Amino acid sequence: MVERHVLGLSGGRDSAALAVYMRHHHPELDIEYFFTDTGKELPEVYEYLGRLEGVLGKPILRLNPDRDFDFWLMQYNSFLPSAQTRWCTRMLKLRPFENWVKPMLKDGDEVTSYVAIRSDEDYREGYSSKSQNLSVRLPFREDGVDKAGVIELLEASGLGLPSYYEWRSRSGCTFCFFQQKIEWVRLMERHPEAFEEAKSYEKTAVKHGSPFTWSQGESLEELAHPDRVAQIRSDHAARLERMKAKIQPNPLRPDGEPIDIDDLYGQSKMCLTCHK
Ligand code: SF4
Repeated sequence: MVERHVLGLSGGRDSAALAVYMRHHHPELDIEYFFTDTGKELPEVYEYLGRLEGVLGKPILRLNPDRDFDFWLMQYNSFLPSAQTRWCTRMLKLRPFENWVKPMLKDGDEVTSYVAIRSDEDYREGYSSKSQNLSVRLPFREDGVDKAGVIELLEASGLGLPSYYEWRSRSGCTFCFFQQKIEWVRLMERHPEAFEEAKSYEKTAVKHGSPFTWSQGESLEELAHPDRVAQIRSDHAARLERMKAKIQPNPLRPDGEPIDIDDLYGQSKMCLTCHK
């Protein structure tokens, strides 16, 4: 029996901080870092993972799905994934992980998976494992590391935040349906080709009778209309001002903590597998 320790990186802030934390606090553990690549990630994600490898001094294993997004989209009759039918996470993120650990578990190895749920987070999604040999640990929760702690860890390690944090606070697919409307607007500006690709997936889906558009209540074509873009921007700015007015100043962090889009709009709008 071999003990194995694995830590999944999403390209997001919290899992990167957990990797740094484990390296500092548990250098005795030989942790295998992995990234499940949906093939539809932002270039900034790959850049961040590359820098993280430098900080960890270790390569991050890339787990690629056996079939890509287009294959699964066809299997699902061109119906876009959605918060209600999240086949994308299952097929592109969980399945490659399960395929990777399956032989380890079959050999009787004890696998511990470390997950970056912070101490200040509520989480509703369980990380229940199907195998007795696979256990899940939440070191940030166990050790009381909150969002401020995560940011401090990343700053102290020199890694900092992923560069996409300037405009969106989530890793994962460019077209993730958990995105807020303001993130779609910014995707259109920063990565117009990815926005166009999402638009074309949506057109095909609608043609096949899919009840879902990427963003609730409107197509990307409608969302991209200049009047609508202006409205989304002003709604977002107003929401941000309201939140800033509510925040108590922290004397230890005079510049304040960055406000995540998910904090602003509510944490249910994220996927713990893809966006941590
Ligand atoms: S990032 Fe979003 S679209 Fe991509 S697999 Fe995760 S939930 Fe699905």
